Amino acid sequence: MALHIVAEANRCLNCRKPRCQQGCPVHTPIPTVIQLFKENRLMEAGEMLFENNPMSAVCAIVCNHEKQCAGHCVRGVKDTPVHFSSIEQYISDMYLDRMTVNCPEKKDKRAAVIGCGPAGMTVAIKLAQQGYSVTVFEWKGKIGGLLQYGIPAFRLPKSFLDRYQARMEEMGITIRTNTTIGSVLMIDELIRDGYDTIFIGTGAEKPRTLGLQGESLGNVLFGLNYLANPQGHKLGDTVAIIGMGNAAIDVARTALRNGSRHVTLYARSKNVTASSSEVAYAELDGAEFVFGMQIQKITPDGPLFNKAIFDENDQIIGYEEEPVQVYADSTVISISQTPRGKLVRTTDGLTADEHGTLIVDDDYMTTRPGVFAAGDVVTGAKTVVHAVDGAKKAAAAMIRYMEEN
Ligand SMILES: Cc1cc2nc3c(=O)[nH]c(=O)nc-3n(C[C@H](O)[C@H](O)[C@H](O)COP(=O)(O)OP(=O)(O)OC[C@H]3O[C@@H](n4cnc5c(N)ncnc54)[C@H](O)[C@@H]3O)c2cc1C
Ligand code: SF4
Repeated sequence: MALHIVAEANRCLNCRKPRCQQGCPVHTPIPTVIQLFKENRLMEAGEMLFENNPMSAVCAIVCNHEKQCAGHCVRGVKDTPVHFSSIEQYISDMYLDRMTVNCPEKKDKRAAVIGCGPAGMTVAIKLAQQGYSVTVFEWKGKIGGLLQYGIPAFRLPKSFLDRYQARMEEMGITIRTNTTIGSVLMIDELIRDGYDTIFIGTGAEKPRTLGLQGESLGNVLFGLNYLANPQGHKLGDTVAIIGMGNAAIDVARTALRNGSRHVTLYARSKNVTASSSEVAYAELDGAEFVFGMQIQKITPDGPLFNKAIFDENDQIIGYEEEPVQVYADSTVISISQTPRGKLVRTTDGLTADEHGTLIVDDDYMTTRPGVFAAGDVVTGAKTVVHAVDGAKKAAAAMIRYMEEN
């Protein structure tokens, strides 16, 4: 590993206009970090990465590098791009344990953060670093959001989140787990209790349904529900997965690791929304991909499809009349997620669009003054690094808001 990343660092051309940095949604200062790494100044490199992106240790593992940093590396035009993420992973993993947590003088302002996924964690860290008192309210028993209950442990070890929690607590952040806002406690009660500003980072964790017959059968479940507790479900030998996004691929790879032997992903078109590396891993693990299958309904024996007819450009021009019954012990529906509507329903002045995503202004302030939001609850299901990007901007706006009010 160390040899590999040293070789990778030496391949960096230190471009004057680093395209890799532009390709990263949080504009990680890649050439500077690589330079510090080459000079053995790991702690400085780690600090630079953490200040720019508190979730750097996670992003280095789970980002879609081939589309972002590596995908924009100039070396990739004729050769293999520099795999900066491996360097970032080495530095940020080390930094997460060795960082010195500075506790600045406490300011007389308090912020509440609802939801402890990557967006909430980023806001909490950014505010605590500036001396604000932060309390995080998390619905589940553990922190991390979809890093904890979505992305499987074989891709992202859960111990990362324990390490993050330890750092956050050292920063003076109070984490109140098993507490849902919008249920027993409302946003109005947070305001009553003196929080000067509130951040909503509640994500998009409500599985999208197909709206078709059979979804409530006993051997049918939604991908996110399965991933939250794979050992709690016995899928059987043969599994049909509806969908081909990254989450569907995680379902397939998890099922194969938990005893299922024939796992097939079905999609209507010939487009896979998952990244090509995720597809390659799934194929390596033994998953199969079947295209051109329009789901009609789900029966106790498995999904029933209509086969698509494609033209020479792979566009669907019709469907075969005779339906195709596919046998499966279990069918897993994994076709993305939307935000839950709880907070909007229980909070005056909060507005969401028709997809349930919260409406915010350029400063990430919602339609309720003093209440900010970012991450999947604003963008819809996206990625960790995009959640961090929005959360950083929201944190900066929350600081301005607290100082002006
Ligand atoms: C299976 C799967 C695989 C993925 N793989 C990748 C990947 O490889 N790379 C990548 O970049 N992204 C991936 N993503 C997407 C990524 O995980 C999300 O974009 C990211 O976690 C969004 O962060 P967030 O903080 O906005 O929301 P979340 O991570 O969803 O966190 C929201 C938190 O808010 C809590 N919460 C919700 N409502 C309330 C409430 N009312 N009160 C209190 N707490 C509440 C939830 O319990 C949760 O902890 C994946 C997603 C899934 C589902
Ligand atoms: S945050 Fe993600 S996209 Fe940006 S440099 Fe790191 S791994 Fe690449």
